[in-house]
Amino acid sequence: MHGLMMNHPLTLAQILEHAHRIHGNKRVTTLLPDQTLHSYNYTALYERVKRLANVITQVGIVQPGDRVATYASNTYQHLELYYAIPCLGAVLHPLNIRLSAAQLAHITHEAEDKVIFVDGAFAEQFEALRNEIACEQVTYFNQMSTDADPSYEQLLSEADPAYAWDIPDENWAMGLCYTSGTQGEPRGVLYTHRSMFLHTLAVNQADVFGLTEADVVLPLVPMFHAMAWGLPYASMFAGADIVLPGAKPACIADLIAETGVTVAAGVPTVWAEAYPELRKRRQDISSLRRLIVGGEAMPPTLIEAYEKKLGIEICHAWGMTEMSPTGTFSKLRREHQALPDAEKWLIKAKQGRPIPGVKLRLAAEKSDEFTELPWDGKTAGELHVQSPWTARAYYRSEPTDEHFTADGWLRTGDIATIDAHGYMQIVDRAKALIRSGGESISSVALETALLKHPYVTEAAVIGVPSEKWSERPLAVIALTPVGAVSNRADADISDTLKQHLSVEFPKFWIPDRFVFVDEIPKTGVGKSDKHTLRKRLLSAETKEKLP
Ligand code: AMP
Repeated sequence: MHGLMMNHPLTLAQILEHAHRIHGNKRVTTLLPDQTLHSYNYTALYERVKRLANVITQVGIVQPGDRVATYASNTYQHLELYYAIPCLGAVLHPLNIRLSAAQLAHITHEAEDKVIFVDGAFAEQFEALRNEIACEQVTYFNQMSTDADPSYEQLLSEADPAYAWDIPDENWAMGLCYTSGTQGEPRGVLYTHRSMFLHTLAVNQADVFGLTEADVVLPLVPMFHAMAWGLPYASMFAGADIVLPGAKPACIADLIAETGVTVAAGVPTVWAEAYPELRKRRQDISSLRRLIVGGEAMPPTLIEAYEKKLGIEICHAWGMTEMSPTGTFSKLRREHQALPDAEKWLIKAKQGRPIPGVKLRLAAEKSDEFTELPWDGKTAGELHVQSPWTARAYYRSEPTDEHFTADGWLRTGDIATIDAHGYMQIVDRAKALIRSGGESISSVALETALLKHPYVTEAAVIGVPSEKWSERPLAVIALTPVGAVSNRADADISDTLKQHLSVEFPKFWIPDRFVFVDEIPKTGVGKSDKHTLRKRLLSAETKEKLP
């Protein structure tokens, strides 16, 4: 028997309408490239979002369900697009501005973006790629109008201020984010209004992000990566002020001090870099109560430094683009409060408990079947997840066994333990991805490209620990006779190979180091034995060559 409650659709229009009606005076502040602040309130944003919806639909080429891309950092115009595009029934597709022309070409061709909104701050960078990119129209914002091209501001000021939201149903697609594919090709994750609405409610629980209307939220995580961890929606549903840092603030401490930030979110690399500056300005940043940290593991020493020296609570989160992206969140339980500090940091350094609504499973694969492993904090297994905000397939591809199990779980590619209280800890990665500064680098894609070079007969790219970036790629190369007899120094060959890779990949993907060997060790099934390579390499850290 079905119940008798209203079947009220869960859409982002509800979040926007609520934010405007209940919290219209709350502020959105953006750090502009000249380091001055732009600020307006939710009501002003709301009115501009409606005009923007008219601008987008009046172009005449955007139909419901069409993809509309953005190429921008964290600014108020990007926030306006975060609402206008999905609320008019189109699909918001944030493009990662760090990707190479080849990667963006692949993504935009697959997504078939109709329009791309480009931040004028990246005009030069975008124009250099424009010929590669598939889209019917490019609209710049943060740029003056020309006779041929009216500016974003001009378009908004001329647009009709009224717009009736048009979202066919709660399962309608609202956003598309690409994630690095392990085999090199990026894969699209297509969120629905319902999934993003439920993710918003889930992260706003007290034991998760716990945002309230008294907060001032600073998302340092880029709006072009994994929907900025859902913060653009979660902050406005809670009624918090939002501070958008643009591409990169010259001084995070200044921004926090000037705007009274209470909660900030970003990858550990950002917090490691900002620590000395925040320490010096301790008095000025006293408003900051909590950091949400994820994308890669937060080292216990950094957690300790922030909590003990700065009195700022660290909440370590884990997730994936495929999970909208939040999956687990690490906060201490009541019974942990009495533990010695050192033990507390170790618990906080775990990736945390599944947030309510997310199910985790530790699994071992045997003859194509999965058996469940115990939650004893010791047994490591493949981590599987389920939730209403987790992808069940990738955009434009059939679900494969590599990513989805027959019984309905997403295979995360992370290897983890889970303890009796449900704290998950990542101990390894089964997928061929290297995490650097919170972004993924596909080792397989780099190896495939290296093998195309006439000097290379074998290539294995491995992640090696880096204090600043968490991991950096290192390439181990066996040279072909052509390369070996080229009489060139190793450094010379490394430069040639770096040059070769930079045609296809962004700068941060290029291995910092190349190590040359006669032969790459193999596993029993003939694959590169990266485990042995890593071990040999780390034990020979000071030498230039592998033993
Ligand atoms: P992405 O889809 O780019 O957000 O990458 C997701 C992957 O990042 C996960 O599958 C993990 O391998 C890694 N990751 C995310 N958060 C953490 C974390 N807190 N600790 C360790 N790895 C993480």
